[in-house]
Amino acid sequence: MTDRRKFIKVGTIGSLALITGTSCQETEEIKEEITGNVNAVKPIAISTWNHGVHANEAAWKILAKKGSALDAVEAGVRVTESDPENMSVGLGGLPDREGKVTLDACIMNHNNECGSVAFLQEIENPISVARKVMEETEHVMLVGEGAKQFALSQGFTTKNLLTEAAKKEWQKWLETSQYETIINSENHDTIGMLALDKEGNLAGACTTSGMAYKIHGRVGDSPIIGAGLFVDNEVGAACATGVGEAVIRVAGSAMIVELMRQGKTPQEACEEMVNRIISKHKNIDGLQVGFIALNKRGEYGAHSVYAGFNMAIKSNQNDDLIDASYENEWD
Ligand code: ASP
Repeated sequence: MTDRRKFIKVGTIGSLALITGTSCQETEEIKEEITGNVNAVKPIAISTWNHGVHANEAAWKILAKKGSALDAVEAGVRVTESDPENMSVGLGGLPDREGKVTLDACIMNHNNECGSVAFLQEIENPISVARKVMEETEHVMLVGEGAKQFALSQGFTTKNLLTEAAKKEWQKWLETSQYETIINSENHDTIGMLALDKEGNLAGACTTSGMAYKIHGRVGDSPIIGAGLFVDNEVGAACATGVGEAVIRVAGSAMIVELMRQGKTPQEACEEMVNRIISKHKNIDGLQVGFIALNKRGEYGAHSVYAGFNMAIKSNQNDDLIDASYENEWD
């Protein structure tokens, strides 16, 4: 059945402890059968930003015991969602202009099954609601009040997610009401996690409170399958963080998976999509976007428009937080 075999070019990036600078890493192109590959680095979990370190620890507890990538990514990002100190995901997330914390999340497994919630309020762990949408309904996406009603019907309870600290920040913002999209490693943005389990199955999860002080009702890329997250178990997985509108415009994560299918390493695929975003936008001032990607061999990559993006990695060989390569320094 050689005609059904799928091939990938395998790069060296996955084994590098530090990814820096703007140029493509030198890659060694080896044709390797993806399916049934026994040499893959697995299990492995990779996540966006510093908060990925703690999220990876939770995921690793599952992956190390031969648990599924799906369980691992859900458990991992729940840690970030429930962390009140984190002001860009779940509890404690910065609100929209009206002072409402509205959450977006999605999850995808190795069978192309996916679930998503958007504009969800007062539920601490939207990723778990997204998983329920995937597993308990015929749908992929529920939004707003409908998503909340569904969550309540599944046993989730409501909670005020606007912490005193987030409320203070919002009140400070109201004094000028100047909307700015500031995304960097200091304000720790969306958590996206991709995992490859012992069985060789991939899954991904992505969850956020979205852009601080957004227009009430705004939904970003994070709950949109193909934009904020995409998984294809034949090839690899990708997820995004940063200005969601820019990611949606280029179908960022799905494209990265397709580029890997065509033979790009995860690093090369992330670089190509960052450059596509740059070329499709007349003004990229402050337009930070970062991608991470993982392939079936457990190789990974990360790249961003601006400096400052980082990725946490956890496997038997690695327990790192690395700086992603990027195209531009901040002025
Ligand atoms: N991608 C998220 C959004 O646009 C924001 C983020 O990553 O911080 O909602």
